[in-house]
Amino acid sequence: MQQARTTCPYCGVGCGVLAQVDDEQMIHVEGDAQHPANYGRLCVKGSALHETLGGHGRLTRPRVDGAEVDWDTALESVATRLAAIREAQGASAIGAYLSGQLLTEDYYVANKLFKGFVGTPHLDTNSRLCMASAVTAHKRAFGADAVPCCYEDLDEAELVVLVGSNLAWNHPVLYQRLKAAKTRNPLLRVVVVDPRVTDSCEIADLYLGLAPGSDGRLFTGLLARMADTGRLDRVYLDRHAAGLEEALAAAQEEDTTVEGIAADCDLDPERLETFYYWFTTQLHVVTLFSQGINQSSSGTDKGNAIINCHLAGGKIGLPGAGPFSITGQPNAMGGREVGGLANQLAAHMDYDTPGAIDRVTRFWTTPGLVPTLPEGPGHKAVALFEAIERGEVQAVWIMGTNPAVSLPDANRVRRALERCPLVIVSECAAATDLLPYADIVLPASGWSEKDGTVTNSERCISRQRGLLPPPGEARHDWWILIEVARRLGFGEAFAYAHPAEIFDEHACLSGFENDGSRLFDISALAGLDRAAYDALAPIQWPVTTDAPHGTARLFEAGRFATPDGRARLVPVRPRGPAQTLDPARPLRLNTGRVRDQWHTMTRTGRAPRLMNHRAEPFIEVHPDDAASYGIGDQQLARLVGAGGDYVGRVRLSRAQRRGELFVPIHWTDQFSGRARMGALLEPHADPLSGQPESKHGAVSLAPL
Ligand code: SF4
Repeated sequence: MQQARTTCPYCGVGCGVLAQVDDEQMIHVEGDAQHPANYGRLCVKGSALHETLGGHGRLTRPRVDGAEVDWDTALESVATRLAAIREAQGASAIGAYLSGQLLTEDYYVANKLFKGFVGTPHLDTNSRLCMASAVTAHKRAFGADAVPCCYEDLDEAELVVLVGSNLAWNHPVLYQRLKAAKTRNPLLRVVVVDPRVTDSCEIADLYLGLAPGSDGRLFTGLLARMADTGRLDRVYLDRHAAGLEEALAAAQEEDTTVEGIAADCDLDPERLETFYYWFTTQLHVVTLFSQGINQSSSGTDKGNAIINCHLAGGKIGLPGAGPFSITGQPNAMGGREVGGLANQLAAHMDYDTPGAIDRVTRFWTTPGLVPTLPEGPGHKAVALFEAIERGEVQAVWIMGTNPAVSLPDANRVRRALERCPLVIVSECAAATDLLPYADIVLPASGWSEKDGTVTNSERCISRQRGLLPPPGEARHDWWILIEVARRLGFGEAFAYAHPAEIFDEHACLSGFENDGSRLFDISALAGLDRAAYDALAPIQWPVTTDAPHGTARLFEAGRFATPDGRARLVPVRPRGPAQTLDPARPLRLNTGRVRDQWHTMTRTGRAPRLMNHRAEPFIEVHPDDAASYGIGDQQLARLVGAGGDYVGRVRLSRAQRRGELFVPIHWTDQFSGRARMGALLEPHADPLSGQPESKHGAVSLAPL
């Protein structure tokens, strides 16, 4: 029997896992006591990982036009058809849609192939649905997409604010850590800001059940109150941040009294006053924010409204202080590191980063082979599928994700894919809602089979290790990509024999001509041989010669990644949801995860005990609303939204506000007849980040 360390593939906490493998089977998992993300803890999903494995239900052979083929035929088909479309329509007729489930090494090769050598800018990722607004907010405030905090800050804080985050269900091990910190330190206060009463409220000293979408107003109001009550940290602002006057002027355009802000947010003024008092009088404050902030048509502004308050109070760069974006996916940050978003180029460089296109071109140039990088950003997720629908993008390669379920207006995505001349899907599961739209299907290896790295919410790079052989003919994503690259004539630039070589190149690029002006730098990890790469212990970036053991907390010296080293407060004028209610769709829809499931359940749906928590799609409804529609508890009901409908069993819940509903994101046509929440949503996106407004649908409700 072999015991090995690896990393959980689910949420952005990135827990270390000790896996026991016997006779090519994983027989047990437990938390890795040495991993700094979890110190031995696992949540119920993580502890069931070994129950989700096995060859049943897996894709095991490539398919072209519905027929099983060998790999050589499949790869030739991919290369030949992509080359033909590129020749006839140009490189920008090709797109790729990736996933936070990919490892950093897979992401690196995909980004290099599509942007560097195919020459298309249209490579985006489902991380767009998760944290793109936080990325944009970080860049505006700090000059770089960099999370200032680390998990230790939860242990050091005096006040932790959870906003748009049901930590107890979505990042359970971090919630357990916060709960333990509160037990150790009774003076630590927790505030939960959420339209729904969630399990995270169990440890809340104060709950603010605000109106959906009013969180931006909550924090612009807080900034105004900080000024009015003399709680701005003028010394910190003078030295380390610019833009206070403009941000404050914007905040003061609206009523700055507690009563006025409370009315706008539909809150009790006394509770709001308490929150503001606690925030303004404590220095060690962590504001943990997640999809409830990001999945909004004004998500970037909301992120900046939060960051503004931390900068204005000097509550950043200290133990137990800072705005802390918690990512949904295990490798949402790793994708950002290599340029996996359509607005990024590579290694945290954007197209408009001075000298970046030239620098990356020279770095990727191989003897006889010069990359042809695009000149500017490509289509972000929603726009990419709109371009497919218009026929501008003629080929799309989708890896490890299911936009036919998860993107807003998901039925329109299906129609776009039906019209697309070439749809290539790399996938682990044998049956998904996406596969019927694929012309070419490529069986990919999954967790426990893949070998590489992921980066969690606190910038910690961890190894996921390949412990089991992939089933049948499934192959690693990086291998599939380099084989296609070779057939497209780019083989010399993709001559990798092992993920360690890809990681080495990635680390080198992060430090290439980096004079310290680019924060993302892991160049001290370059040059690892296979044994050292395999033994790589968790480490937080930046990792440089000055910080060879990594960097737990950023901006401790008060110097940011802007040209003048000062952070920026950003003027924010709060906006409500773009999806408006009307008489035909009078109810506000909220969406999210449930505790024991992950995304479209292709893995967690295989473990019976995980299905016991919520066995079928449901609709949470306030009892008074249900009564007014003549619907009882456990009755089937139908929601109708802009682009489709959803059938689920009603769960009466006083955790819901009146006029608001909640549905889970997980169910697909594979698991239920008609419960894809993506079909209900209009495709509104934040104009700055491109992140869809998945938290704010408008629907009607009726008994079935
Ligand atoms: Fe996995 Fe997240 Fe649970 Fe940790 S908290 S075990 S990373 S799902």
